[in-house]
Amino acid sequence: MHTLRKNLDQKRAEGLYRSRRVIEGPQGPELVVDGRRMLAFCSNDYLGLAADPRLSEAMNRGVARYGVGSGAAHLISGHSQAHHALEEELAEFTGRERALLFSTGYMANLGVIGALLGRADSVLEDRLNHASLIDGGLLSRARFRRYAHADVLALDAQLAQAPGRRLVVSDGVFSMDGDVAPLNDLASTCGRHGAWLMIDDAHGIGVLGPRGRGSVAAAGLGQGEVPVLMGTLGKALGTSGAFVAGSEALIETLIQQARPYIYTTAMPPAVAEATRAGLRIAAEEDWRRERLQGLIARFRHGAGRIGLQLMESSTPIQAVILGSSERANRWSEALHNQGILVAAIRPPTVPEGSARLRVTLSAAHSVAQVEALLSVLQEIAAGESA
Ligand code: PMP
Repeated sequence: MHTLRKNLDQKRAEGLYRSRRVIEGPQGPELVVDGRRMLAFCSNDYLGLAADPRLSEAMNRGVARYGVGSGAAHLISGHSQAHHALEEELAEFTGRERALLFSTGYMANLGVIGALLGRADSVLEDRLNHASLIDGGLLSRARFRRYAHADVLALDAQLAQAPGRRLVVSDGVFSMDGDVAPLNDLASTCGRHGAWLMIDDAHGIGVLGPRGRGSVAAAGLGQGEVPVLMGTLGKALGTSGAFVAGSEALIETLIQQARPYIYTTAMPPAVAEATRAGLRIAAEEDWRRERLQGLIARFRHGAGRIGLQLMESSTPIQAVILGSSERANRWSEALHNQGILVAAIRPPTVPEGSARLRVTLSAAHSVAQVEALLSVLQEIAAGESA
């Protein structure tokens, strides 16, 4: 145990120590953090639904009808009518034959890649994919290759060499940079090689595309081009959990073979009920997406005026690149001192030298709150150059 302490001390010295904050009360632009009221730009609650009373009511109705626990895994006796109805609605929403619920997005990604591939197969992943996709690829025991970020030509060359079944995996919206994958080029390259394409649209579902159907729908692609679509429920849809959508054969294969599906307790049915409400609202209330786009444009314009280095992104994920972990920590602390919560993202989550502030915007933010963030960023930048 002595070596554990030494490792922890080393992390602290390098500015890489992670710690948690305790939040009181519901999610929203203003949070009570460790007893202090703060303005927050770090949640994935893009549409402002996490604390929407209509979702709370749906959850309460679910509790009244089903109780709290699901009691078992889906394949034993944990698969309720609420889960089943949500799966049907997600299939309809995504334009896929079927959808399957998972308890978390992390598990969905491990489950899908592991169920589709074996030792003789190949998985090819964008270098900046989410950790759960990388872990899913490594755990699958298939031949694992990463291609340079969004580099479809590099992928094309790797596919030509890849044995067995080939699965190409990419985030739809990259979680740390906020950019959208080159979905049309990925789909045509996979089509040419007869490879399967899996898109993790955790940050696109609810936010992009017509009715919030996600980055894949926004690119005009369907089940034929993107046979494996994964989405999470804990971001724009306001609850928790995840789904995979695709063909009847895909979903039945996952039910038979995806270990993180088979060997885990189903999410509480009441969460499925709340998600049904979240999905309905996300699809119907276009004004939330319009408002979000307005805030994104405003933030980018203001940050540009201050001279901040932003990643190219039209999504609610806006990365302010600062370079060293130490500088990212300093900016995050300076914001914190002014009552603003923004996450500093450091290696190994992002590549060395690209530590950043990851600002996430929500339809629940007001213009005044975004302006308040910009004005504190301006003060910090001015303080540095003084
Ligand atoms: N994929 C991506 C792209 C994500 O950003 C996340 C969560 N941050 C996940 C998967 C995992 O989803 P969950 O939080 O439901 O486990």
